[in-house]
Amino acid sequence: MRAGFPVFRHGDVLATSFTATLKERHGDAVERIPTPQRLVDWLAVNGLAVESCTTAQLELARELRESIHAAATAAAAQDPLPVTAVQVINERSIQGRASAILTPEGERQWRLGSGSCVEDALSVIAADAISIIAGERSGRLALCASSTCRAAFFDTSQSRTRKWCDMNTCGNRQKKARFIAGQRNRSGLSE
Ligand SMILES: [Zn+2]
Repeated sequence: MRAGFPVFRHGDVLATSFTATLKERHGDAVERIPTPQRLVDWLAVNGLAVESCTTAQLELARELRESIHAAATAAAAQDPLPVTAVQVINERSIQGRASAILTPEGERQWRLGSGSCVEDALSVIAADAISIIAGERSGRLALCASSTCRAAFFDTSQSRTRKWCDMNTCGNRQKKARFIAGQRNRSGLSE
């Protein structure tokens, strides 16, 4: 881990793990990929190791990230998909090369094009976003109940009633706030 940078949070859905690299979009935003090297780190952790990353490629990645966020948010709210966001997602999906590989252990891995460039990795993320926004995977797109977050996340819980993008951050904060409010009520300090 590199000191001084916000830590990564891991989800099991690639596209929404990627959109979660910017947190608290409606509060004090936390950028988890502030530098090209941090994007390289994030991609490596997520099975998409690339050789290098330029500032321009980091910009492409962030543009894709915000486009996925916009399209997923619209899909969760059952609004029409934003046209430019869809264009960006499609462009990134088309312009990279990556192949799915089956390991002897029966797991899927991604093999990026010969240069292992950022564009190849982004095409995998874009295709993942397309599959969840198009409703091809079992789950439900939803928006985090935290008013400072409102992240789009993919709910694969049995009951499909998840409220927070992440139990360890947004969910926990809500629980703590409720606990403190409860204590205040008990001690008669509430208004
Ligand atoms: Zn959240």
